[in-house]
Amino acid sequence: MTTPRPTARATKRRPARRRRRVDPVKAWLRRLERTRPNLVPDVLDGLATLHGRPTWERRLDPTSELILTILTQNSADVNAEQAFESLRRAFPSGAPAERHVPGQGWGGVGLSEAPPPDWAAVETAPLPDLVEAIRPGGLHNQKAPRIQAALRRIREERGDHSLEFLGALPPLEARAWLTQIDGIGTKTASVLLLFCFDMPLVPVDRHVHRVSHRIGLIPPKVEADAAHDYFLAMLRPEQAYEAHVNLIRHGRLICHARRPDCAHCPVRNRCRFVDPKAP
Ligand code: SF4
Repeated sequence: MTTPRPTARATKRRPARRRRRVDPVKAWLRRLERTRPNLVPDVLDGLATLHGRPTWERRLDPTSELILTILTQNSADVNAEQAFESLRRAFPSGAPAERHVPGQGWGGVGLSEAPPPDWAAVETAPLPDLVEAIRPGGLHNQKAPRIQAALRRIREERGDHSLEFLGALPPLEARAWLTQIDGIGTKTASVLLLFCFDMPLVPVDRHVHRVSHRIGLIPPKVEADAAHDYFLAMLRPEQAYEAHVNLIRHGRLICHARRPDCAHCPVRNRCRFVDPKAP
């Protein structure tokens, strides 16, 4: 007996169904809305009862902000300030004095009112001179070449060291322009754009990351770099500055890495660190 041959119909394969790619940020927001309604406004209101509602004010010109932020990378804010003051002394310029408004959330004491450094002189200085100038900030051997490379890249692309043009770009375009420069990541770019232009980008440092993880504002496994896009989607533009500043303050003063002071925390009723089923 011969085995019947499969008909053409039987052998015809169904075309593979294309899986729709789920956007993890949108999926997370939908889940929050469904299972924890009003979480973002409740958390912001709760934090404001303790830390107030900070209002945005530019604290430095964008090039100074960029270099100060590079100096804060893995260094205490107060040491970065000393390094920046030392840069001003080592490379003085005749530019108008800058008024540094440190604002809430900044861990230093603020800079004196003085002109910014001469960025052309910083860019072309012998490396050992620049290393010496920023020594008070720590990690000077790594940061000095990074600063010179960033200044060089800006001048080559723009003709001078000014970054004021970024204020006219849409936030994500401005962020992309900055992050193409070696050594400038999403956090550094977001600091500059939020503090200099009030763009709705939330820089996610270790405090913002820790507090928002514990509360459950962002998914448990999301790293700091990816968290930037969650905040961008989660907040209304006018909430970005307040969210950044108050989450940092909360992380510094109450929600410590080791022993968070949950008894005095105004958002404990909505915090998943305290209660994994918190609404
Ligand atoms: S309840 Fe505790 S863990 Fe949660 S945010 Fe407040 S201090 Fe941090």
